[in-house]
Amino acid sequence: MAAVAIFDGHNDLLLRLWKARDFAAGAFLDSDGAGHIDLARARTGGLTGGFFAIYPPDDAPPRPEDALNGQDDGGVVDHPPTGPIAPDHARRATLEMAAILLRLARTRPDALRVCRTAADIDAAEAAGALAAIMHVEGAEAIGHDLQELETLHAAGLRSLGPVWSRPNIFATGVPFRFPGDPDEGAGLTDAGRALVRACDDLGVMVDLSHMNAAGFRDVARTSARPLVATHSNAHALSPSSRNLTDAQLDAIAERGGVVGLNFAVGFLRADGRRLSDTPLETMVRHLDHLLARLGEGGVALGSDFDGALIPAAVRDVAGLPALVAAMRAAGYGERLVTRICCDNWLDLLRRTLPAR
Ligand code: ZN
Repeated sequence: MAAVAIFDGHNDLLLRLWKARDFAAGAFLDSDGAGHIDLARARTGGLTGGFFAIYPPDDAPPRPEDALNGQDDGGVVDHPPTGPIAPDHARRATLEMAAILLRLARTRPDALRVCRTAADIDAAEAAGALAAIMHVEGAEAIGHDLQELETLHAAGLRSLGPVWSRPNIFATGVPFRFPGDPDEGAGLTDAGRALVRACDDLGVMVDLSHMNAAGFRDVARTSARPLVATHSNAHALSPSSRNLTDAQLDAIAERGGVVGLNFAVGFLRADGRRLSDTPLETMVRHLDHLLARLGEGGVALGSDFDGALIPAAVRDVAGLPALVAAMRAAGYGERLVTRICCDNWLDLLRRTLPAR
C-alpha cells in the first residue's frame, strides 16, 4: 500500500545544509542517511511537501548547547531567555538558506519546487516534486522599514514567524521553560504590528509557534487571517512554555486556524524529558487533545525534522507511516487521517496564498 501523503508544517533541513556549507544540497539529493530528511527517505515516507524553515541561528560559534534539543539524555529543555542576534549575521544566514532552497528548486524541479501560489502546489504534486513553502523563523533579517520583506516575498517567502524564541525589533519569542507558561515577556512592538499588517497584505502567513502569549494576543488583534502555529503541542499534556494553552487553542479554533503537531519529545512528554523512547501513543494523545479543541479541520503535522530529538518509533521522514498506523490504531478514520496528514495544511494554504 502506498504511504499516505504528508504535508508537513515545519522542517529545518535548510539549517542542516547551511551549517554543513552544503549549498548544492548534496546531502538531500544524494540521500546520505544523515539527519531526518533527504529525497529518497521523503519519498519512502510519503512526504509531498511542507514548510521549509529558514532559521538564522545565534551568531556565536557552534556550542554544545546548540544540540540541546537533539540530545537523548533524559534532560529537560529549560533555559532562561536568550538575547537578540546581530541583524547583519541574520541577513546573511537568511539569504544563504533561501539561496540553498532556490538553487535546489532551479536545478532539480523534479525533486522540489518553491510554491508561491495554490496552483504551484498542484503543479508540484502533478510533477511528483516536493511542494516547498518558504518559511522564515525569526525575522531578524528584516529591518524597521520592512524593505527586506519585499525582497524575501519576491524570492518566494509565504510564511513568517516574526520571532524565534528570543527578542527582536518586532516581538519577544517565548523562552524554553519546563514546566513553564507562554505568558512571559512583551508583545508586538509598533514595527511588529506593521510587519503583521504587511504580511496580511502580501499573503504571507504569520506563524505563532515561537510567540509568547502577549505577542499571540497582539497578532490575533492585528491580523485578519486565520491564526496558525506550524509546530506546537498541547500545554495541557506537556507544560512546556513552547506549547499552546487551551485558551490559545480556542482562539485559533475561533479563527479557523491550524496547529501542526511537533514531534520533539521535549514538547510531547508530560515530564518534558529528552528521551527518544517516547511512544507513538504520546503523539496521538496530543492529536486527540488538539482535535477536541480545534476540530477535525484544525489539526495537522509540524514535525520539526532536522531540528529536534524525535521519537525513535518515527526516527526520520521515512518513518511517517508508523505515525499514520498509530492514528489508525487509535480509531482515526481514513478521512481524518488524510486531513491531519495533508488536507488541512493545503486547505489553509488555499485560503492564504494567491490562487495563481
Ligand atoms: Zn521552531
